[in-house]
Amino acid sequence: MKNVLVVIDMQNDFIDGALGTKEAQAIVSGVAERIRDYKGQLVIATMDTHKDDYMNTSEGRHLPVPHCIKGTKGWEFGEEIAEELEKAEAKIFEKPVFGSEQMAEYLYELAQKEELKIELIGLCTDICVVSNALLLKAKLPETELTVNAKCCAGVTPESHQAALLTMKMCQVEIIGKTYN
Ligand SMILES: [Zn+2]
Repeated sequence: MKNVLVVIDMQNDFIDGALGTKEAQAIVSGVAERIRDYKGQLVIATMDTHKDDYMNTSEGRHLPVPHCIKGTKGWEFGEEIAEELEKAEAKIFEKPVFGSEQMAEYLYELAQKEELKIELIGLCTDICVVSNALLLKAKLPETELTVNAKCCAGVTPESHQAALLTMKMCQVEIIGKTYN
């Protein structure tokens, strides 16, 4: 059995940058602690990654706020998170959209060799956490998949709760207290 922690998009633009929220800032130390809890186990992190043409993409038309442009400060992991990910020798997946097919494929390959137990944390509960949770659920229906709510934050507290409920209904296990 392999324990896997998947840290979604803990990047400056989602913490205190272009799309930052106080709820996101409030989970940073908890996320760092959770990465430490997985010492010696597999830690994966995703990075929302856009190019200069962001405003011309479908996402940019729906959300006209440039963010996570590769190479900018906003694209980088929050400082505390970056330190822990480095110590954990985390495997990083850059992704141009909400869900990372590449990450799901990587975990699918691993799951052919040994049983996995996957925990997801990070930002934002209602966009990229839910997208990746449902992507993994489709790819690995027999794998135990948990979302730790106290290490997640949404665009709003309401949409955070709505996403947790959606994931619970889709048989993703929800653990941890939320901030509100
Ligand atoms: Zn994005």
